[in-house]
Amino acid sequence: METKQPSFAWMNGEIVPWSEARLPIDTGCVLGGLNVYEVMGAFWSESQGRLNVFGLEQHLDRLDYSRRVARIEPPFTRAEIRQGALELLSREEAGDDILVRIALYVGAGLNLGYLPDEVELGAFMFPLFTGSRHAPRRAPLKAGISSWDRLSDRAAPPRVKSGANYQNARLARVQGRINGYDDVLLLNAAGEVTEFPLSNFMLVRRGVLVTPWRESGILEGITRMALLELARDELGLAVEERPVLRSELYAADEAFMTGTSMGVREIASIDGYPVGDGSIGPITSRLGEAYQRVARGLDSSRADRWNTPVPRVTIAV
Ligand code: PMP
Repeated sequence: METKQPSFAWMNGEIVPWSEARLPIDTGCVLGGLNVYEVMGAFWSESQGRLNVFGLEQHLDRLDYSRRVARIEPPFTRAEIRQGALELLSREEAGDDILVRIALYVGAGLNLGYLPDEVELGAFMFPLFTGSRHAPRRAPLKAGISSWDRLSDRAAPPRVKSGANYQNARLARVQGRINGYDDVLLLNAAGEVTEFPLSNFMLVRRGVLVTPWRESGILEGITRMALLELARDELGLAVEERPVLRSELYAADEAFMTGTSMGVREIASIDGYPVGDGSIGPITSRLGEAYQRVARGLDSSRADRWNTPVPRVTIAV
């Protein structure tokens, strides 16, 4: 995968060169993964000649929720974070899709309990370049079921997008790769399907779009939200958000993963059982196309809700 180093980051209110965007090693963020964060996509629109951030307000809503629950509330307003993200993006070269990571973090503390009144709190943001726009289409996925459970709402709620939650994600992903899968679905303690370590999951059965409901313990994905809206409003599909059991996976006609960094990506097999005929299904492909149009700002009827234009600035050299 093509990757490029960022030129700039935003650290606690200032745009700084990438080489100066560093955190000390004695922070809760480094030592315990104590942060809440977002990764949002800014997608290039050729016809408009600009980037549009997809779901900026929805990502900021989720960040506000995560920071409140995790009690990681550095002294930056939502407006300052929004402005910082747009300013960072406006400095990047035209023509690329860019992801931007926003993190609110626990800094150094008096002790390892990191109680709110004994700790510094901060915020940073930086762009991520995945080369996704120019990458060749990837092969459909071979998925499996992880033998690791998804985190529980009673211990580390998956609804809160926190860095520390990704220990669970990594355990599942690494083991999945060792077992020969591209990626793995996690079940919760009750045996219900939840999501992939880094993305949400949907299947199609008898023409109905089905996805694990939030009560099974998932991250409330912004792409998931957009796809459910598009499925209902644009494709006129019946949609079910409900518990999904493992055995239903093997009855799916189509299945796909969804999230900011991959959009819609079809699944060819689960646990070695082919999904449909193993190639991309008609509903997956229509939803993927509808999502691309909205994400790139080409669906004017949805632009107010989903697209925030990135202003272009000319930087004096
Ligand atoms: N679930 C998990 C665990 C994730 O890390 C992500 C990526 N943020 C998603 C789902 C998809 O969420 P979104 O569509 O907001 O990127």
